Amino acid sequence: MVETKRIDGKARADRLVAGIAAATAKMKAASGVAPELCAVLVGNDPASQIYVRIKGKAATAAGIVSFQQNLPETTSEAELLALIAKLNADDTIDGILVQLPLPKHIDPQRVVAAIDPAKDVDGLHPQNVGHLWSGGPARALIPCTPYGCLLLLRDVMPNLSGAAAVVLGRSNIVGKPMAALLVSENCTVTLAHSKSRDIPAMLRQADIVVAAVGRPEFVRGNWIKPGAVVIDVGINRIAVPGGKSRLVGDVAFAEAQGIAGAITPVPGGVGPMTIACLLRNTLIAACRRRGLTEPEV
Ligand code: NAP
Repeated sequence: MVETKRIDGKARADRLVAGIAAATAKMKAASGVAPELCAVLVGNDPASQIYVRIKGKAATAAGIVSFQQNLPETTSEAELLALIAKLNADDTIDGILVQLPLPKHIDPQRVVAAIDPAKDVDGLHPQNVGHLWSGGPARALIPCTPYGCLLLLRDVMPNLSGAAAVVLGRSNIVGKPMAALLVSENCTVTLAHSKSRDIPAMLRQADIVVAAVGRPEFVRGNWIKPGAVVIDVGINRIAVPGGKSRLVGDVAFAEAQGIAGAITPVPGGVGPMTIACLLRNTLIAACRRRGLTEPEV
């Protein structure tokens, strides 16, 4: 039986945001300009509206100029592409974020590929994906959630080299870039998905587990290798007695106690890091675009 450390993502994100706010204030004092972020929201999806509002508030609190472009559900792909072209051409804007998912009639790949890669703060443009896999992360804007996971991992495992890592889920936004980051940290990475065979056996060999499948409490405690570090990306709302609901991750958190060496809670783990890393990307994009030295945050 090991003592399981609870990884406090909220506290780590607060420290990161404080560093970003300090660097933003310094940039403003030196150059007179603050980084600027534009969030584009198409349609009325309530969850997306909440996410965009939270991101905007966090940006403002860190000294980043933040604004939102709201387009109706009926917006055509051509109209959205025209807006992106306008935002690309606007020199004051450092970061463009198009909130996903988009309405079904709009191809998200085409939209993401239309964003200026230097302003692609979600790190999803093919050029940033290419840099992440081929040139090493230093030249890329890295997707926010996996980068946040990496920062949490580094805190509890300062030497990741040689560790066996299993990433569950192969989405473009979490699983694949997470695998790329872990490879560049010299981990030996298995990227598992819905067609993978015997995931429990894979996990029992893993020093690191990153779970991003979107299935409530999918990973059971007895799948986890004793002492492994578990990063739970999942956010799942489940019904509880009394007609209420609560959030759970992709890992059975209670079962992991006494087995995992460390684990992120849901909520309060990866979520706050995702937002903090979006602000970090905006600051980095602003520095790179303006030829300023990138701060160490
Ligand atoms: P996604 O695009 O739906 O991808 C889910 C991945 O899980 C897919 O690769 C899928 O495999 C795999 N999968 C599904 N069922 C599986 C199973 N039974 N066994 C093995 N693999 C399975 O999801 P996502 O956008 O990556 O998000 C994953 C979770 O993280 C969600 O709960 C989401 O809400 C959460 N999330 C949290 C944050 C945060 O900030 N904390 C950020 C982003 C996402 P296939 O490819 O074969 O279909």
